[in-house]
Formats: sequence, structure tokens, C-alpha cells
Amino acid sequence: GRASAPLAALSQVLRLERSRRTAIVFPLQKLERYLAPGTDTARFRLFQPGLAALQRAEALFRSDRGHPIDYVSSAVRMDHAPPPALPEVCFIGRSNVGKSSLIRALFSLAPEVEIRVSKTPGHTKKMNFFKVGKYFTLVDMPGYGYRAPQDFVEMVEAYLQERHNLKRTFLLVDSVVGLQKTDHIAVEMLEEFGIPYVMVLTKIDRASRGLLLKNVLEIQEFVKENTQGCFPQLFLVSSVEFSGVHLLRCFVAHVTGNLPTVEAC
Ligand code: GDP
Repeated sequence: GRASAPLAALSQVLRLERSRRTAIVFPLQKLERYLAPGTDTARFRLFQPGLAALQRAEALFRSDRGHPIDYVSSAVRMDHAPPPALPEVCFIGRSNVGKSSLIRALFSLAPEVEIRVSKTPGHTKKMNFFKVGKYFTLVDMPGYGYRAPQDFVEMVEAYLQERHNLKRTFLLVDSVVGLQKTDHIAVEMLEEFGIPYVMVLTKIDRASRGLLLKNVLEIQEFVKENTQGCFPQLFLVSSVEFSGVHLLRCFVAHVTGNLPTVEAC
């Protein structure tokens, strides 16, 4: 199996000094002090769990004999999807946005989970279902690109429209390049379907602080002005440094109803 990354577990993060720890657990908050005075930061802190909630969420993502985390199946059509028995979340985004890396990081405490990637051009794009014990399922949707074939678009649309146990869609956006045309198309689709979603900015270790701040503020403004269904707080992640991964685990646990009370820290 894979060795887990150095900061994959909260216990490792807690050993860091305070400012580094904040940067890893709450990367968005870390940016706050570089904002112009008077900037409204309410949207930076809507979901701000305490340590106990973060730890409870981590336990869900840590497999053991009594709590298996498994790849379940792949599907190309909705009638091949497993029964909608548990609350579900799905991850969508452009090809290369960092989706498989992020799912690998989320599941890094369950090293037996195999994240399948089908990137070869022409290779059938599938929805991959993962089951997290008896608590929730997570779906890795095929990456979309400007040449996404029609049947792929139809599969994603059918899934988003028909999946009644879908609690939240995580739309991944590259923090280095910001919202691209295809991201806007995805937003329009999610808005049209009226389903709740949240934007996750990936690869934040690759963006300079200035660029990250610019893209965060721009995307936040876009969400405020143009969306109904998008959660106002952006989630920032680096799958390399593990920043934002613990918070994202906690948000997944929360939206799937597995964290009934999220206390403030
Ligand atoms: P996917 O097509 O969306 O599944 O994207 P991948 O997870 O395969 O990532 C695409 C490329 O970006 C790969 O070269 C990854 O190594 C790189 N990548 C993904 N996440 C990160 C990240 O958080 N930081 C950095 N620096 N690179 C990343």
C-alpha cells in the first residue's frame, strides 16, 4: 500500500507551530491578514469547525476492520450506478484540475483504497463510486474538457439531476488559473439543476500569495453575484501539502449528516 503523507493525519498537523498549523487546517483564514482593512471576511469563516469535529471527521476517513472504505464500482450509465442507499457527495472538475490527487489525499488514511484514473484519450470515462463504511458514498466523476463527448455530458447531467441521495457536489477549480470557460459551463449546469454545490480551489501550493488572493476574491465575488446554489465559502486545498484537506473531510462529514453538531472553535 501507499505510505501516508507526512501531514495526512491531524495528529501530525498539531505538532506544527501555530501559524503553520492554521495554514494547513484553515488555508482561507490564513489569507485574511493580507486583505485590505475593512474587507468583509464573513465568507471566510462560515464553516469553521473546532478540533473535536475535525477529529470526528478524520475518524470517518480512517479505515479499519470494522469500518471499511472501499472502491465499490464504476458506471457509465445511471442504471449501472449502485443503489442510492447512503448520503452521497460527488467531485467534478476539468481534466487535470487535481481531482484524483485530492480524492487520494482525502483517502490517504485508507491506503488500501485504489483511486482509478482513466485518462487515456478515447478511454471510456466512468463514474467511480467509493463507500465509506456505512456512512456515505463519494463519487469521482469523469473530468470534463472542451472535447467531452456528448454521451459523457449526458451521463454527468443525468447523474446530477437524478441522484436523489446526492447531498453536495464539489466543483474543483484550479487556483492558479481561476475560473475557465468550462468551469462556467459547469456552474451554469449546476445552477440550472438547482442542486447545492461548493467550489474547491486546488493546487494552492502552486499559486503565489498575491495570485491566490486575487483569484479567491474574484471567484468569491463571482459566487456572490452570480450563483444561488453555491456555498459562499470557498475551500482551498493542496493535495501535496495537505492544506485544506482536513477541513474538506470535515465538510464532507457535515453535509452527509455525519457530524450533527459543528461547534465553533
Ligand atoms: P485530475 O485529472 O483532475 O484527476 O488531475 P490529477 O490529480 O491527475 O492532477 C493533475 C496534475 O496536477 C498532476 O500532475 C498532479 O501531480 C498535479 N497536482 C494535483 N494536485 C496538486 C496539488 O495540490 N499541488 C500541486 N503542486 N500539483 C498538483
